[in-house]
Amino acid sequence: MDIYFLPKDELTELIEILRETGKVFWTRERDLPSNLENIRTIRIEELDEEYIMDYRVPGLRAYDIFKSFLLPLNFKVAEYPDKKWIDVELNAKKTVLLGLKSCDLVAFSMLDAVFLEDPEFMDPFYKKNRESIVIVSSDCSRIGDSCFCNLLGNTPYATSGFDLNISEVSDGYLLESGSPLGEEILEELSLPGARKKGIEERDKRREKVLKDLEKQNSKFLKAFSDLSKLVSEGYYRDEGWEPGSTCVSCGACTNVCPVCYCFTLFDRFDKKGEKSKRFMVWDSCQYKGFSQMAGGMNPRFPMMERFKNRYYHKFFRFYERYGKYKCTGCGRCIDNCLGDIDMREVLASVKIGKVVK
Ligand code: SF4
Ligand code: SF4
Repeated sequence: MDIYFLPKDELTELIEILRETGKVFWTRERDLPSNLENIRTIRIEELDEEYIMDYRVPGLRAYDIFKSFLLPLNFKVAEYPDKKWIDVELNAKKTVLLGLKSCDLVAFSMLDAVFLEDPEFMDPFYKKNRESIVIVSSDCSRIGDSCFCNLLGNTPYATSGFDLNISEVSDGYLLESGSPLGEEILEELSLPGARKKGIEERDKRREKVLKDLEKQNSKFLKAFSDLSKLVSEGYYRDEGWEPGSTCVSCGACTNVCPVCYCFTLFDRFDKKGEKSKRFMVWDSCQYKGFSQMAGGMNPRFPMMERFKNRYYHKFFRFYERYGKYKCTGCGRCIDNCLGDIDMREVLASVKIGKVVK
């Protein structure tokens, strides 16, 4: 794909075109760049030039997750007794997500594999939402303490899965399209091609971030060398799982995980008890009642059984089914864990039987 150069002072033009394309949500870095919580996703309501020119591509992934644009926390899927599925006509209006990182795109590809790729189980609600999303990704320019995408073979810059990708360089941005829509946007902007110097600068920046990740996570490299074997064997042992003993089953890890998608269905009846509406709601495998069956039988009643099962599913069962681990290495589960549990430390401990800090 060709790479184009957008001068810093022409950013408003790109935003203007994106706003014509759909509702734009961007991840925006606030005043304290080292604090993950300050990278939040917000909707651009007005085209305030000053506000837009103040924009900096966020250094790393946002605090928020984007699965809620595809699988809302709670939404109606049917009404009874009509047995009528909710109309899932494609929205004419698109949603533009600006500033997603490589790990966010990897997450989308995993959700696509689950909800779209097998025609027998294709989810029409997911499909509708997915088709309305326009992705404008951007390179990471720094790493967070919890980032470990490199251990899972991912990179801190996107190579596919975007409509448009932005790489910040000293005097502006390099733009690359990844879809016909991205091409159209670039054509409309009619930008000059990127200069060799700019592309070299981009490559150097990318290399530096990747090196920082490798350095930060080098002590966990061994544990990630054959995760599937490690977790499938480790699942049947008790040793090594001690770093998980502080889990309080809050479910934060699965809620903030961009690739955890378990849901439950519940019916809400009207006052007469004659009609009901069916809702799809996020669920968590870490909740005590998640595996409970009729008659009260619960194969995963002890907390540690649920904790281990989350790893088993992510690194063994999902891998067997889809050929990839169900984890992007984004680190959100580490940042949000009430039990202060670091997934990397758990896996390293399962591998060598002792805690690696
Ligand atoms: S966030 Fe931490 S404490 Fe909460 S369920 Fe997940 S592992 Fe357990
Ligand atoms: S398991 Fe943790 S690190 Fe992996 S994708 Fe989910 S939140 Fe990110």
